[in-house]
Order: sequence, then structure tokens, then C-alpha cells
Amino acid sequence: MKYRSTRGGMNPLPFSDILLEGLAPDGGLALPETLPQVSAEQLEAWRALDYASLAAEVLGLFIDDIPREDLNRLTQAAYAPGIFDSPDVVPLKPLYGKTSLLGLSQGPTLAFKDMAMQFLGQVFEYVLAKRGTTLNIVGATSGDTGSAAEYALRGKKGVAVFMLSPHGRMSDFQRAQMYSLQDANIHNLAVKGVFDECQDIVKALAGDLEFKAAYRLGAVNSINWARIAAQIVYYFWGWLRATTGPGQQVSFAVPTGNFGNILSGHLAREMGLPIAKLVLATNENNVLEEFFRTGVYRPRSAAQTHATSSPSMDISRASNFERFVFDLVGRDAGKVAQLWKQLEQQGEFDLSELKPQFESRYGFIAGISTHQDRLKTIRSVYDDTGVLIDPHTADAVKVAAEHADPDTPMLVLETALPVKFADTIREATGQIAPVPEHLQDLPGLPQRVQVMACDAGLVKDYIRQHAEL
Ligand SMILES: *Cc1c(COP(=O)(O)O)cnc(C)c1O
Repeated sequence: MKYRSTRGGMNPLPFSDILLEGLAPDGGLALPETLPQVSAEQLEAWRALDYASLAAEVLGLFIDDIPREDLNRLTQAAYAPGIFDSPDVVPLKPLYGKTSLLGLSQGPTLAFKDMAMQFLGQVFEYVLAKRGTTLNIVGATSGDTGSAAEYALRGKKGVAVFMLSPHGRMSDFQRAQMYSLQDANIHNLAVKGVFDECQDIVKALAGDLEFKAAYRLGAVNSINWARIAAQIVYYFWGWLRATTGPGQQVSFAVPTGNFGNILSGHLAREMGLPIAKLVLATNENNVLEEFFRTGVYRPRSAAQTHATSSPSMDISRASNFERFVFDLVGRDAGKVAQLWKQLEQQGEFDLSELKPQFESRYGFIAGISTHQDRLKTIRSVYDDTGVLIDPHTADAVKVAAEHADPDTPMLVLETALPVKFADTIREATGQIAPVPEHLQDLPGLPQRVQVMACDAGLVKDYIRQHAEL
């Protein structure tokens, strides 16, 4: 299997080559040349597998340059008991009626990013060792990506991590989780700006090809293909747990920021997984909801991006959206390149002529959840079921309820545990979100972080001094 760029300007490359890259040289994103198809018989044969074995099956469809027994070893290590807090790795937790939570937050950082990142940590170390080389990961995070990357790569050989985060815009828990890591290969850079400005610095560094080559820069942010591929696994897992036989339909509701998580759902659906609807939930930063409502994609400026109580979705430009648009325009790379050029020049593009397909062909439905909705949802779920949910998950529960179909299971992706956003949980319910036992002493641990102005030059200087070479 080879990978190409959504904008057409990259020679076909195998998985291990795109694994270590960020954006394609033409500014596009890597995608498989053809999407593997999974038959109903194949799905039934996977019903008895545990999570790690299912992951090897699904990832094996996308990775043909790593021997199968090695891939099995990598998924067994990534999804080992002891890393995830549930024996199922991803538990299905009934909420009410046909609605359940798909528990993606049992990993070390209590958010769904661990699902992909734990695999990425394994496969990075494997490929780097095979090639006898090193890599300096540069990333931007609005909270959960950064900590998941750091926990997956801490202490790994041949890799250093330089993680930019928006200074003062993460929760105390998120800060404590990231900044308390003392591993020498982990570098936290708190940038005085919003997430998108952090992301712009990462893009500027990746676009400086000389610097990128000299310091062997790589990426683990949400555009990384291996992450998207690893996320596809839990849509299959969720479907297998929520159904009893072939052809049964399941819907998924996904709280969305960068369009990463739900892109994996779209790909699973395109691979033949019987998904009825993909319910996309945004917070007040509703660029994606607006697109699915109007067909116009109109990213906002950093200044127009609200700081909300579901902060991991405070994103104005959805970095993975280009991969979905590629499918939407009939996998026409020239058209994608033209749309993104227009985006750069005019700040928006209009695909409203394709709007009739959004739901009928691709199953997408979108909705917004605001701070008041979030509080109300957290409170009512707690009152009705005794279950505390985090603010991001609440956004998806709220929008899912607007599209519930009495005959179809609705799996809401639980993207974080409530303790990560304890202030909002208290505001909504008066309850103190429970802290998992192994994290009781986290708030008191010493923190290690470099605060800096929003300037790509300063970040470069820091990398020059601390890179793994
Ligand atoms: C990252 C994140 C999201 C958004 O996921 P995307 O892949 O960016 O759409 C939602 N909820 C939580 C808790 C997250 O960490």
C-alpha cells in the first residue's frame, strides 16, 4: 500500500516513510491510494478478537511494510493491560435507551488521544531503530494531544518531543499532567498565544525545509496518518460490541475540533463498516457545524476563536478536514489544491453544490453545543444515570440526543474523563470529579516548562540547543 498527498504533489510512499513526516511536500496530507474494504464475513471473523488483535488486523490493512508478527507485537505493547485502566481497553458503557458511551479515555492521560498515541510511540521507536536514525517531534497542542504524545514517547530511544501549548489556556489538570514530566527527552514550550498560533509556528518550522532536514523534525499532531489509522480501530471495536450480527447499523456521535477523530469514523464507514450516521458536535467554535449546514468552509482568525469550557475543541481551522474534502470532491487532488489556494487568498470556499451528499452519501449530521447546553447535559446525565461525563463528551451527548433514532444504537465517543475538567463538572453538578488513584499526587508534583513569546525564531533557537541528533 502506497500513500499520496491530497494535493497530488508527492510521489507514492510506503507507510513507514509517511509515518515520520508531517505535511506532504506540497502542503497536503497523506492518504492511502485506495481505501481497503472490509466484508461482512471479515467483520464477523473479528468479533472474538481482543482490542490489540483487532488493532493488528485493521492496521495491517494500511501497513504492509512492517512484518505481521512485528505489527502484532507493537499493538500488543500499545494496548497492554496496565496501560489502559479497563480490561477491555475500550469499554462500552450503556447510558440510556440505545445510547452508550464508547470509553476511549482509559489510557495514561485520560483522553482519547492515548488510543492512537500509544501505538504511535511503539511504531516510532520500531521504525527509528530499524533505520538507525533519530527524530525530533515538534507539535502543537490545545491540551490532550500534547500530553498523550509525551506519555507515549517519554524515555523512548532516539526521539525528543518539543510540544507547544497555548500559555494559560489549559486546565490545571492538563498543565500538571504535561509539565510534571521530568524525562530529558520531553520539552514543554508554553507559547503566549492561542492554539492556532502554536500550530502556525509548527507549520512554519515544517515549511523551512533546510531547518527541518538539519534537525530531523517530525510530527505527531492530528494530521499524522498513523494516528488517523489507529483511531479507525475503535469504530470497528465499537460496532462489534454494539451489534450481534452482520449488516446491523450503528451511529456514532463525535465531539470535534480538528476533524481527526471523526475523519477516522468517515474512513471506517467508507471501508464498509455499517455506520448509519456520523453525528458531528462542535462547541461555540462552530466552523465545521457551519460547513455541514451551509456548504461554506470559513475558518476563523485566532482572535475570533472563543475560549470555551470544552477547550480541546477550541479550534478555528480543522487540520484534517482536507482529507474529507478530498473524498467529497471525488478524490480530485487538483480540485483540493485549488480549494486550499482559494482558502489562502479569500479565507473561505463554497461547496454548497455538494451539500445534498453530506448526509445522504456520507452520513454526516452536525450540531452545536454551548456552555449552557454543556452544563445542562452534564447535570441531566448525572441526575438520570449517576454517570459524570466530561464537557467534550457532553457536547456530543447533547447533539446525539437531537438525532437519536429509536432503532439504531448511538455510540457517543467519550473523549476525556471528567477529572480533566473538574471546574466545569463542579459548576454543572456540584460534584468533585473522582481522581483515579494513580494520579492522586499529580497537582503537587514539580513542573518543568519554558514560557516564550509567540515567535517561530525563538522556538527554533530552543530546538537547536536541545535537539536529539
Ligand atoms: C482532541 C479532543 C477532541 C477533538 O478531537 P479532534 O480529533 O481534534 O476532532 C475532543 N475532545 C477531547 C477531550 C479532545 O482531547
